[in-house]
Amino acid sequence: MKTEASPTMNTHHAVCSIIPPYILDHMSQSNDAKVRRVAIEAIEQSAAARAVRRAMTMMAGFAAVPSPGAKRHRLVYDVENGGFAQLPGTLVRSEGDPKSEDPAVNEAYSGAGTTYNFYKRLFGRNSLDDRGMTLISSVHLGQKLNNAFWTGDQMCYGDGDGRIFIRFTKSLDVVGHELTHGVVSHTCNLEYQNESGALNEHLADVFGSLVKQWQRRQTVKKANWLIGADIMGPETSAKSLRTFTEDKAYENDALLGTDPQPKHLKNKYKGTADNGGVHINSGIPNHAFYLVAMELGGKAWEKAGRIWYKTMLKLTTTSQFTDMVETTSESAATLYGNGSLEYKAVAMAWKAVGF
Ligand SMILES: [Zn+2]
Repeated sequence: MKTEASPTMNTHHAVCSIIPPYILDHMSQSNDAKVRRVAIEAIEQSAAARAVRRAMTMMAGFAAVPSPGAKRHRLVYDVENGGFAQLPGTLVRSEGDPKSEDPAVNEAYSGAGTTYNFYKRLFGRNSLDDRGMTLISSVHLGQKLNNAFWTGDQMCYGDGDGRIFIRFTKSLDVVGHELTHGVVSHTCNLEYQNESGALNEHLADVFGSLVKQWQRRQTVKKANWLIGADIMGPETSAKSLRTFTEDKAYENDALLGTDPQPKHLKNKYKGTADNGGVHINSGIPNHAFYLVAMELGGKAWEKAGRIWYKTMLKLTTTSQFTDMVETTSESAATLYGNGSLEYKAVAMAWKAVGF
């Protein structure tokens, strides 16, 4: 079975799932009936998320929920295995509340807090919209659901089936990835298809990874450069969903197949699946970012992250890969100077991936 053909997504607030359609497609063709069933359920939930999103954007006056005092404000809800129609669910932890007994609640709360702190302390950004919007998360979405989503106004996390994936709150880079889709939608708002969509996915991966590296105070050499390593279950050989390095995150895995991400422009995917390869072709700029960070050494958020953050503010809804190349170079020149090591590292990295 195939997922529905590239739906016309509302590009202003695309619903973004962490698990790409090609993984769900592969799982839905498994010989194992249980794997097939959970994959199909996840695909149905993705379609439901898009429908919810479309309905919500049509509502007049829809806006981000402001937080009291316009500072860090988190709300975590439990949707108790309900679907999108039941969102957000029951409020179980608010800003400042003590820990819950439920690890998913605590991880959603602390992951949102770390992501907020990352943007605030490094870039002076006050939440996703820079106006202190409330960070809303719902946990226990669906039955053993193998996915996590950013719906355009909130995060929601499945529990995973316990075999291929475990609870989706467990990877801080997954939380940072989804919330960065919120930052993108409030800044350059890249259209979620083809190259602009791959750049949207790329920025979510870059800042998702940087949130984790920053929280762990990791140097570029210590960082694992993986997305979703902590949500992989015991029955898959995959080390993660994606990797920034030249390697593949998984190869000939019985459940997931082979990681399709290219790391060079000459291998760019040109088909229409996955909204024109948004989770596939993001591998090319991801690898370029990794090369910049490795060349500069130290901590990736300090220089490479700064160049990329400045770039995110300058891109537009229709930016393509060549605009990304140009804008990161401009940002490096503005921040560090034309002949700087940083400027040269950016130029070298893009050249290495085919630009
Ligand atoms: Zn995404």
